[in-house]
Amino acid sequence: DRLVDAGADGEDTAVEAALRPKDLHEFVGQEKVREQLDLVLKAARARGATADHVLLSGAPGLGKTTLSMIIAAEMGAPIRITSGPAIQHAGDLAAILSSLQEGEVLFLDEIHRMSRPAEEMLYMAMEDFRVDVIVGKGPGATAIPLELPPFTLVGATTRAGLLPPPLRDRFGFTGHMEFYAPTELERVIHRSAGLLDVAIDTAGAAEIAGRSRGTPRIANRLLRRVRDYAQVKAEGRIDRDIAAAALRVYEVDARGLDRLDRAVLGALLKLFGGGPVGLSTLAVAVGEERETVEEVAEPFLVREGLLARTPRGRVATPAAWAHLGLVPPQQGAK
Ligand code: ATP
Repeated sequence: DRLVDAGADGEDTAVEAALRPKDLHEFVGQEKVREQLDLVLKAARARGATADHVLLSGAPGLGKTTLSMIIAAEMGAPIRITSGPAIQHAGDLAAILSSLQEGEVLFLDEIHRMSRPAEEMLYMAMEDFRVDVIVGKGPGATAIPLELPPFTLVGATTRAGLLPPPLRDRFGFTGHMEFYAPTELERVIHRSAGLLDVAIDTAGAAEIAGRSRGTPRIANRLLRRVRDYAQVKAEGRIDRDIAAAALRVYEVDARGLDRLDRAVLGALLKLFGGGPVGLSTLAVAVGEERETVEEVAEPFLVREGLLARTPRGRVATPAAWAHLGLVPPQQGAK
């Protein structure tokens, strides 16, 4: 239920569908991936062929699903969406693959979490558009080859490095999605505000963009919460003050840290003098599980250069002191 979580929540899904850019021109940012993909798709179209398999790597909420839908739209092809964890058995994958239409885009989210046998079946399907369906068990089992129509696999993963090399090598194109610059997020916010029919000025969009952690999904979610506030308190108009006041209510600070992030950072600074302190001790101090601190709060704090993980424990950086408006002890003693 974190407002600044980059993963999708139930409320997001319907709104996200409405806010999704429909073609490459509408897709904000990611210039390199966009330019490269544009060439891949145009060339395939000119040849009258199915596009090469595409691997998209990047953090949650950066637009991998959106881009896969755009690939299908640009190729004039239907799309099937599934995910690695949903494919437990090779048979699950065989059923999907054998029902694909010619040219169809198969979007496989979290492809690194597929089961091993399914993964091996995918190798052959990607390369030869063929699968071997095993019928029977034990010594009597036979492999029946099944021809597949040519299709385009779009795999998404949070880290391309997690993929086994034989799988990675079978993609004709890999696009690395980067976190978005604040100015790009401003464009996302203006675009979404237009679609949601919300009045927002430049400074208001900039205020939300700065708190969105480089992630369009978070930008869109914060925009919706600010819209609620503006409707109740400001006749629906969003400017800098309204955006800042709304996000203060939701405890998302100027840099996009929320209550949990600030609690972790605050404990590290105030109780442990900025560290080094062990993860378990820090977790107890904020009354959270170790895993919550490590997996939920820390990645963003590290990315922002506010906290460092060292062999001796967690350490705050000078930027952390500045962000919380505190003075490091040695400086204070001078
Ligand atoms: P996950 O890995 O969690 O599935 P994802 O990377 O697939 O996330 P999407 O679902 O594609 O992310 O995008 C999340 C939301 O952000 C969507 O509402 C989408 O409209 C918006 N969005 C993502 N990228 C862009 C972009 N480049 N321009 C405009 N809106 C974007």
